[in-house]
Amino acid sequence: METHNPYQLALKQLDRVARKIKLDPNIHEKLKYPKTLLIVSIPIIMDNGKLKVFTGYRVQHNIDRGPSKGGIRFHPDVTLDHVKALAMWMTWKCAVMGLPYGGAKGAVACDPKKLSIREIEKITRRFTTEITPFIGPRKDIPAPDVYTNPQTMAWMMDTFSMHSAHAVPGVVTGKPLAIGGSFGRMEATARGCIFAVDEIMKYLGKELRGSTVVIQGYGNAGSFAHKIAQEKGARIIAVSDSKGGIFNPDGLDYEQVQAFKKKTGSVKNFPGAKNITNKKLLELECDVLIPAALENQITVENAGRIKAGLIAESANGPTTEAAARILFRRKILVIPDIVANAGGVVVSCFEWAQNLMGYFWTEEEVNRRLKDIMVLACRKVWELSREKRIDLRLAAYIVAVERVAEAVRLRGLYP
Ligand code: NAD
Repeated sequence: METHNPYQLALKQLDRVARKIKLDPNIHEKLKYPKTLLIVSIPIIMDNGKLKVFTGYRVQHNIDRGPSKGGIRFHPDVTLDHVKALAMWMTWKCAVMGLPYGGAKGAVACDPKKLSIREIEKITRRFTTEITPFIGPRKDIPAPDVYTNPQTMAWMMDTFSMHSAHAVPGVVTGKPLAIGGSFGRMEATARGCIFAVDEIMKYLGKELRGSTVVIQGYGNAGSFAHKIAQEKGARIIAVSDSKGGIFNPDGLDYEQVQAFKKKTGSVKNFPGAKNITNKKLLELECDVLIPAALENQITVENAGRIKAGLIAESANGPTTEAAARILFRRKILVIPDIVANAGGVVVSCFEWAQNLMGYFWTEEEVNRRLKDIMVLACRKVWELSREKRIDLRLAAYIVAVERVAEAVRLRGLYP
């Protein structure tokens, strides 16, 4: 039976790499466990005057290469195992991209769609207060993730700064520009993803211009992927959000879809396109499929029916382990999440560095540096995958785990 528990999936992935690289069993053992697990209660007075307690999590997986880094997710379905998996994936992502970070992740189990702005602000501030002793620019640096955004980061930065009695912009990334955010951060995950797609397509002798693209999820990662892929001359034939998807083989215009979603709250029922379920959307024939929503979207159930030429995992963990094996057998190339969606953390790292120096770069500078890092990582992973005849995911994990293992070895075990 295929496991859909993301932590079990993350452990299996680590086991696979450990076997492949004959990882020192002591280091393997250490890397299986998160360094710190924090579960906090978040009591707030709701708008109706009643007190409600939410549960918040912060998991720091590893800090051998530097302070831990990872987003904060607000979602009703999050569990501790979710957060543990996401934290471990952040360790690998930062390592494969060569960033001076370990991995972390945080979450609050809540449904922001059913909360007022005031309630979301209270949850954010109390959650930040509870995790304050564990975060900081030199310790652990949160960022936005699913259903959190620059405003959430502004509240976190403000709360942490109030407790410190001075402004601490470097405690979180993904902040608005006015309080120390970086140019290019909003679009960074999508921009990085499209850089990766462009680069890998080059190796395949193909090009993004003129290719057909399907995107699942229309939030930060998905909607900007639409914008940037369109700017690069691709034809985006289907997009979706949690309410459903839309399909038009002639292409969907970013500005129009964006305006429609802004007005109606969903891409569904966009004029001139056919409504399509999220399930069907994944099975459309296309050159590039970008899952940019949640985990476990490509499973053994549908992997045999995927008709994309290339998959770029903009979401974290959208493909299960067994599905990945089916895709590999079917010669469908997958750019793994730890590379495909790393643009966000790369520019987060730039934002943090700019905060620490108190000196800011232009958007061109940010995008140029992002491209350099994405191309370098893609090349390294691609070459290793060809050399060892393995899929890109295993290659990316080998690069990442070897880098983390080297740091563990060099630092040794304390005490
Ligand atoms: P977001 O909250 O901005 O958007 C999420 C989108 O997914 C929304 O459009 C929502 O409607 C859609 N969605 C939710 N459930 C869905 C479902 N069942 N089917 C289809 N669509 C669904 O979140 P985001 O920041 O864009 O994150 C999306 C994914 O990208 C997550 O896996 C996240 O971990 C990953 N990611 C995000 C960043 C970032 O910088 N934002 C960086 C790295 C990875």
